[in-house]
Amino acid sequence: MNTGLQLYNTLTRKKEPFEPLNAPLVGMYVCGPTVYNDVHLGNCRTFISFDLIFRYLKYNGFKVRYVRNITDAGHLEGDRDEGDDKFAKRAKLEQLEPMEIVQKYTLGFHDVMRMFNTLPPSIEPTATGHISEQIEMIKEIISNGYAYEAGGTVYFDVEKYSKEYNYTILTNRNLEDMLANTRELGGQDDKRGRLDFALWIKAKPETIMRWPSPWGVGFPGWHIECSAMSAKYLGEEFDIHGGGMDLAATHHTNEIAQSEACSHKQPAKYWMHTNMLTVNGARMSKSAGNGFLPGELFSGDHPLLKKGFSPMTVKFFMLQAHYRSTLDFSNEALDASEKGFRRLMTAIDLLDKLSASEKSDFEIEPIYLNCVKAMNDDFNSPVVIAELFDAVRVINTVHDGKGVISAQELDMLKKLMNDFVFEIFGLKDEETSNTDLNGVLDLVIDIRRGAKENKDYATSDKIRLGLQSMGIQLKDSKEGTTWNKI
Ligand code: AMP
Ligand code: ZN
Repeated sequence: MNTGLQLYNTLTRKKEPFEPLNAPLVGMYVCGPTVYNDVHLGNCRTFISFDLIFRYLKYNGFKVRYVRNITDAGHLEGDRDEGDDKFAKRAKLEQLEPMEIVQKYTLGFHDVMRMFNTLPPSIEPTATGHISEQIEMIKEIISNGYAYEAGGTVYFDVEKYSKEYNYTILTNRNLEDMLANTRELGGQDDKRGRLDFALWIKAKPETIMRWPSPWGVGFPGWHIECSAMSAKYLGEEFDIHGGGMDLAATHHTNEIAQSEACSHKQPAKYWMHTNMLTVNGARMSKSAGNGFLPGELFSGDHPLLKKGFSPMTVKFFMLQAHYRSTLDFSNEALDASEKGFRRLMTAIDLLDKLSASEKSDFEIEPIYLNCVKAMNDDFNSPVVIAELFDAVRVINTVHDGKGVISAQELDMLKKLMNDFVFEIFGLKDEETSNTDLNGVLDLVIDIRRGAKENKDYATSDKIRLGLQSMGIQLKDSKEGTTWNKI
């Protein structure tokens, strides 16, 4: 299948033609969220970028098996196999069981993904559901001589591995420099080498999430889950492995090492990495205190926000940047996206009202082909959006009676919008023309305003959350409350 699609491969540091191993089947694995708390907007950007890629592959006729995991165990606070377990810590804080934390934030993640109108993955495996697969893989890595057990913890032997394989293949860093930069072994662990990382971690007496293993009771390290689950569902060699750019240097580097130490095969043909969402130039992260939750963005309830923005405005804002460019968040940029998105939707609404003429002043096929060309050039969504605005100008010109369009070109316009705006970008119109609903919501919003004035927050929250569960999001701003469908 030659679709003309070129994608940037982190592994080779260049754009390559997309030639799947078993076309039309495509195996794609994306590292999913760690569900010990809410996903922030930065995380959402990565998942929205891979949704675009998933949708475009499907549009091209590929049968994509898209696996996106849920990390629900084995995440320690420190980067280097140290510190408290994030799930246990959160469970204590919220006075819940760790698996209640997992359930709560998995459901929250799914709600957010639905609001952004992303497609669910084909398989969404969890780390805790695949403990035996991880143990089997660790056993194999040990028997192949690339890992060792010390005091109930199993470490991957990076030095041994790097004698035969290139440990820094993904990032092209210098191994000697990395060895020099990692901190001295403090003596508090049993690692032989500074870069060695844990495959299995011995449980402390207070560890709640623990499983028996050949090395005693413990829990898996973070990296092994993705190697074990990608191999299980996509095979030892598959097409695309993705995640945010921040994962390349450690998590994905270690994944490649584990898979090669086990099967002697580099697991993915194409490694794809999305760039970061930033706020005033700094990476959005919860620990930096600049991580908006999607709900805060939709409602406008955050000190950095002037007002709320709807899910589709936010998604449109993200699609206006290429997935490998950084994207800086600002109220002004979102304001502009809101206007742009509305202009696009208004034009699409007009499409059914345009009447065709015998002749046509416009040719739509070149616009369509430019959109395909842009998507084929490593999923260049901002170029597609610029082309779509050319089509918007055509629609507005015909609507204003300043030009004519034939039935054939009008059909092409409809196909263009349908394919790129709805099918490939996964955008949808949030405005409704349902006047009854408008009236009912005006009344409910007024009752809620009264409740808030009386400091009856239980009622105002009940109204907001009740409407949210029915797919209606309220947005509060200084000018009052508005709503949109999610
Ligand atoms: P986590 O839940 O922290 O494991 O992250 C889930 C996904 O979000 C990973 O692929 C990260 O690389 C990605 N990610 C984290 N922060 C950002 C950000 N600021 N912008 C874009 N993606 C991010
Ligand atoms: Zn992963």
